[in-house]
Amino acid sequence: MENKNVWTTYNKRQLKELETLNADYMQFLTECKTERECVDYIVTEMEEQGYVELGKLIKENKTLQPGDKIYTVNMNKSLIMLQIGKAPLEEGINILGAHIDSPRMDIKQNPLYEDGGLAYLDTHYYGGIKKYQWVTIPLALHGVVVKKDGTTILINVGDKEGDPVFFISDLLIHLSAEQLEKKAAKVIEGEALDIVIGSRPYVDEDKKKKDKEDKAEKEAVKKSILKILKDYYDMEEEDFLSAELEVVPAGKAYEAGFDRSMIMAYGQDDRVCAFPSYRAMFAVEELEKTACCILVDKEEIGSVGATGMQSMFFENTMAEVMNLCGDYNELKLRRCLANSNMLSSDVSSAFDPSYASSFDKKNVAYLGKGMVLCKFTGARGKSGSNDANAEYLGKLRGIFDKDKVAFQLAELGKVDLGGGGTIAYILAKYGMNVIDCGVAVLNMHAPYEVTSKADVYETYRGYISFIKNA
Ligand code: MN
Ligand code: MN
Repeated sequence: MENKNVWTTYNKRQLKELETLNADYMQFLTECKTERECVDYIVTEMEEQGYVELGKLIKENKTLQPGDKIYTVNMNKSLIMLQIGKAPLEEGINILGAHIDSPRMDIKQNPLYEDGGLAYLDTHYYGGIKKYQWVTIPLALHGVVVKKDGTTILINVGDKEGDPVFFISDLLIHLSAEQLEKKAAKVIEGEALDIVIGSRPYVDEDKKKKDKEDKAEKEAVKKSILKILKDYYDMEEEDFLSAELEVVPAGKAYEAGFDRSMIMAYGQDDRVCAFPSYRAMFAVEELEKTACCILVDKEEIGSVGATGMQSMFFENTMAEVMNLCGDYNELKLRRCLANSNMLSSDVSSAFDPSYASSFDKKNVAYLGKGMVLCKFTGARGKSGSNDANAEYLGKLRGIFDKDKVAFQLAELGKVDLGGGGTIAYILAKYGMNVIDCGVAVLNMHAPYEVTSKADVYETYRGYISFIKNA
């Protein structure tokens, strides 16, 4: 079965809508390089859209009505938003889920050192990366430093106009005869991913005058970095102990191609699904069923931890919301979860003609052919996958066809070449209908990933169709 390239199907109005949505998406990518930044950005938009924080509603003991819009944030790294529908929650809700963490390098807790006249921060990579892709490119530092007294210092260096950037060096080609003999996985080792942050030694002007002698101070470059950290951020070296600093590619989201049909940017896995998910929530009103959007952290490392999908955050939130609707008991909560439908949204691989042998051409997604539905993910014999059932898939086909949403059914790549997981299996444990769904990406997990504007648009349309009709 051959899918149409969806670009050829658009009229003027649709093309305008597509460009407006993608311009907003690119701004989101440019401004949100970490899960925390995504949460802050989306909270601002939600409040403009009339969403009210759940804790506030609990305090006021407010009774929720159809049409009410609620959100809750977990540890500044994940969030849930809901729009209450007319039907009782017990009958189930329609859920859009995606993750907002992306592969990167995290700064270690004791990171700062000097070697050979350069100051470095030591990193530990997060998620699956081809390490050789991350050297010699401009890098930015985003995150928080939390001091002992609870003060939080926001760090964001490398992305604003006029900011300096950081980098990881690579060996010059002239001396790389041995390095190039190594396997690609070993060309750049994990411990070699340390970022260079300075090279200029500290000079003590008073001392210089006094002893005239030009005595080189030990670790003077590190000392000058520490002085800058103190001056700019009121931060001591030991404050790295309680910091979360993420090293990400510097730079904005770009349009790619002469025809500007694609977007090239960092972090599109999985912000290319997170963005249309929360925006779809803004586009619907007067819903029959309650709609929900879950944006979680830690997917790239197994959905673990308090801010990952495996935590009780979602279940606890649903209990609170049912309670505020005056309709909570344990059995009703269980029924609500089991009766729900979910699109577990994550990126899929786009067919790459340069690596054609890695894909089954009939069962891979193509850029520009619409939203991707993935019946199963996993590796080897579908291991670790949530295999969506045919009945649910049939229903979704009906819904999307009715609204003329372009979609394609795909697998990641050829059988036994590898695989991947998503958050789908975690929600499926409640017994609800879940299918993997999302957007096709070229160069997935590389510093700059590529998507098609048309796929972003179709996915957005698909999500709206789903929360209205599922
Ligand atoms: Mn993902
Ligand atoms: Mn990923």
